[in-house]
Parts: sequence; structure tokens; C-alpha cells
Amino acid sequence: MTVDIVTIFPAMIAQPLAAGIVGRAIERGTLDVKVHDLRDFTTDRHRVVDDVPYGGGPGMVLKPDPIFRALDAIAAERGAPLTVIMTSPQGRRFTQAEAERLAGLEHLVLLCGRYEGFDERVRERVTEELSIGDYVLTGGELPALVVLDAVARFVPGVVGDEQSVAQDTFSRGLLNHPQYTRPPEIEVRRVRGVLEVLEVLKVPEVLTSGNHAEIRRWRKREALSRTLERRPDLLDAASLDEEEEQLLRELKGASHERD
Ligand code: SAH
Repeated sequence: MTVDIVTIFPAMIAQPLAAGIVGRAIERGTLDVKVHDLRDFTTDRHRVVDDVPYGGGPGMVLKPDPIFRALDAIAAERGAPLTVIMTSPQGRRFTQAEAERLAGLEHLVLLCGRYEGFDERVRERVTEELSIGDYVLTGGELPALVVLDAVARFVPGVVGDEQSVAQDTFSRGLLNHPQYTRPPEIEVRRVRGVLEVLEVLKVPEVLTSGNHAEIRRWRKREALSRTLERRPDLLDAASLDEEEEQLLRELKGASHERD
């Protein structure tokens, strides 16, 4: 998969892309990411990328012409991209399902805004506008990294174990079950009133039982109860198997009894 990112702060993008799973995928060539400095597509001596808004008002607006030139250069170098994504708080909400869909594309361009955002005419060249959440950031660099990171996990060969992606929170419409690793017990200090006591935190016995059927059932139950408690809205769209439907009915029954 090929991704081009257009920004006025290339350094802000380059460093995070060098680390971890995404960094390795780029090194191996599974992902081909190129960061373009928008200032390289200006024609004036001062490499100006912004200007005052027509009609007045606070802040500056990103000029359209450097962005059009950047997109032309990307098209000339890499072939016309099918998808040009504008990061914007006004866009459609980016989700795990969107990430999976975008991972099926061969070539993506991500535009990072700054200041008050883009000149409206840039939207002529944009196929989608994506928001990473209902808050306003100072620039599109973090959103572009968020989108790239979430998309990359769905590109075959990026995450070592593809099963792990399929089991992740959101992938099936459920939150992930809790996870434990060694050691089996740890001691923590707790303050109880005026006393300091040592408490032993244990790994749930079922996980060390070796009974795989029981473990699977426990994980399903935990994932369901967590989702029911924290994100009941997800359950409407979740795809549950018969065992999960049954567990969910039990959990709902139990919570009714408590009420
Ligand atoms: N004045 C604009 C906000 C500009 S924020 C408005 O009210 O719509 C500056 C830039 O940061 C945007 O162009 C966009 O690239 C990025 N940005 C800010 N918040 C974002 C969000 N929630 N999702 C995606 N991009 C965001």
C-alpha cells in the first residue's frame, strides 16, 4: 500500500513513522509512505502556504494552489491516487470499519490542514473528508498518523498475527476481554483507612487451568460484560454467535436482578 502525506511539518510525521510496527512495515516495504513538505510546492521566495480569509475574520487559511501542485506532483510520480483524504473536524467520523475499508485501497493521499483549515476549493480534489473525533486540533498531522496507523494494521503482513487484528476491540463489535501475563501473583500496597496492607493480585484461575473450552467461554463472557457495562451502544451492531447470545441474555438477566 502506498500513502502520500502532505504537511507543512514533515518532521512531525517522520519521527513517529520510524517506530514500532508501522516503522518495520515501512522498512520491509510492506507500506510505502512518502511525506511531502507543502512548502516545496510554493512558487514565491518566502514559501508562503497561508493567506488571510476573504471577507475578513480571525486566523489564516491554507492557500489552494500549493496543494493542487502537490497533488499534481504526486499523481505524476505515483499515478493518480484514487483517494484523497482531507483531515477535518467537519468530516465523517473515522472508525475501525473505515480503517478496514481504506486498507483495501492501493494508494491514499492524506492532506494535513493547519490554521483555520483549507481554502474551500481544495475540496474539488478531495474524495473524502475524515474526522478523528469531535474536538479541534491545531493541525492534521496527528489525525493523519492516527488514520495511517489504524489502516496499516489491516494491511496484510503489517501486524504479525492477523488473528490478533480480527480479535481486537471493535473488530467484531465487542470490546476485547482482559489480558494477563506472568507473574501469576503480584503484591501491591493498599491503604485501608489508617492501615497499609499488602494485597495479592492473582490471575483468574481459569486462565491457568489449561481448559481451553473454559478459557474461550470465560473470554467471551468477559468481553460481553465489559461491552454491556462500558459501551452498550456497540451491542446493537455486534455479530454474536449462539453461545454469545446466550451469555448476553444471562448477563442482562443478572444485571436486572441486581437493579
Ligand atoms: N476552523 C476549522 C478547524 C481547523 S483546525 C473548523 O472549524 O472546521 C486545523 C486543521 O487541523 C484542520 O484543517 C484539520 O486538518 C486538522 N484537524 C483538527 N481537528 C481535527 C479532527 N478532529 N479530525 C481531523 N482533522 C482535524
